[in-house]
Amino acid sequence: MAQRLIVIGGDAAGMSAASQARRRRDRGDLEIVVFERGHFTSYSACGIPYWISGLVPGPEALIARDPETFRTEYAMDVRMRHEVTAIDLERREVVARDLKGGGEVRERFDDLMYATGAVPVKPSWAITDAGGVFGMQTLDDGAALRDWLDADPQPRRAVVVGGGYIGVEIAEALIQRGLSVTLVEAGEQPMSTVDSDMGELVAEAMRGLGITIRGSLPVSGLEERDGRVSAVVTAEGPIPTDVVVMGLGVRPNTALAEAAGLPLGPTGAIRVDRRMRVPGHPGVWAAGDCVETLHRVSGLPVHVPLGTHANKQGRVAGINIGGGYATFTGVIGTAVTKVCDLEVGRTGLRERDATAAGFEFVSVIAESTNRAGYYPGARPMTVKLIAERPSGRLLGAQIVGWSEAAKRIDSLAVALWNGMTVDDMTQLDLGYAPPYAPVWDPVLIAARKAVDALAALDR
Ligand SMILES: Cc1cc2nc3c(=O)[nH]c(=O)nc-3n(C[C@H](O)[C@H](O)[C@H](O)COP(=O)(O)OP(=O)(O)OC[C@H]3O[C@@H](n4cnc5c(N)ncnc54)[C@H](O)[C@@H]3O)c2cc1C
Repeated sequence: MAQRLIVIGGDAAGMSAASQARRRRDRGDLEIVVFERGHFTSYSACGIPYWISGLVPGPEALIARDPETFRTEYAMDVRMRHEVTAIDLERREVVARDLKGGGEVRERFDDLMYATGAVPVKPSWAITDAGGVFGMQTLDDGAALRDWLDADPQPRRAVVVGGGYIGVEIAEALIQRGLSVTLVEAGEQPMSTVDSDMGELVAEAMRGLGITIRGSLPVSGLEERDGRVSAVVTAEGPIPTDVVVMGLGVRPNTALAEAAGLPLGPTGAIRVDRRMRVPGHPGVWAAGDCVETLHRVSGLPVHVPLGTHANKQGRVAGINIGGGYATFTGVIGTAVTKVCDLEVGRTGLRERDATAAGFEFVSVIAESTNRAGYYPGARPMTVKLIAERPSGRLLGAQIVGWSEAAKRIDSLAVALWNGMTVDDMTQLDLGYAPPYAPVWDPVLIAARKAVDALAALDR
């Protein structure tokens, strides 16, 4: 009899795992059943802000593979609009509710792939039922916001609550659609994924684009009029608006796992080993936004909900379920984003992470340009490096710049991954021609500056 794999969650992690398992085991050997409570499989949530802005079409363009493709080409039993409501580890069964037709099914498994993703962090205040308030997590959220923006009367003012990268990307999308946009952030400034000196550069650029930033201003509620949101309430008074987008971050979606007794780690996400196995539960696997992983620099468990990790982790789980051998060895926290033309990249530890992890370090900021100063299109670029004292080992890096900045973080990520010191980095053979870099690349300038700073301190 064929073995049976049940997958909970039909997006990045779940479908990567299912596809890899199928590549290694045919349908006579492994039956694959996928439960997905939403309307889509294998979609790019990452593309939603660009669909909102109108830059890319959607939602079809954001779907890598639809359920029918998985059924016909991958021989999977994909059950859409089915929500798994319980996992019975003793009987090796899941219970799923049919959200469209009604009714409940029980299905047995040999292997279980838990890939339920993350859920938005809820505010401490009540969200009203009024129209015009949106989360930003799924394609359905994106579709709902687009409908509201296109409807009559057309909204003119928008408030984005929360200045993480999703809030920042949505603020960009809304300003590009011609709305007047206010971003309200409880912390000092948006983009707390970089240090505050680098975050200030992002905030400054956002203001330059016409986005109003209200920092250190927690929201305490919403006001409505005639069934539509009319203002965001803050300690400094109401901010009138026609639409509110919530971007308070996400937390791992672990409700089912907890109820079933699967182990959670210190971050509140599911614990897994390097092969994406849930410890103590043979045949149970988990991957993506619902799991925690190792930070390779701090050595601490972290929850970093990004698509890049979900796809890799799902692939690793699927190879192992399929009988192969693969491991996911942790992350270093590399991420990129942009606000209109301003690009932001980060990798490794911020100053506060380095302090919390007990490192002694120096940090330097180097100002440079993306191209030779005389070459058309040369624009400023700021590189920040954080290096361990006295070893000089790179601990973290951040880049903010107007062009060709974000993906420059990748060379720093490779250096960090391989434990290079800033001294080693000054020798890096990076490409140079006037259209692409000054003769001393901004990364090399920053490395030299860090070497000097270390020498000055430890002289
Ligand atoms: C607006 C936005 C922009 C982003 N931009 C980027 C980016 O630029 N770069 C990047 O790396 N990452 C980005 N991300 C993050 C990325 O989308 C996620 O990390 C990735 O989708 C996680 O994949 P996952 O499979 O773990 O979870 P998800 O994609 O959340 O998929 C989980 C699936 O499980 C289903 N599910 C949950 N519970 C159940 C249940 N009980 N029964 C059945 N189905 C269930 C859900 O409906 C969902 O489809 C962005 C996210 C958003 C929202």
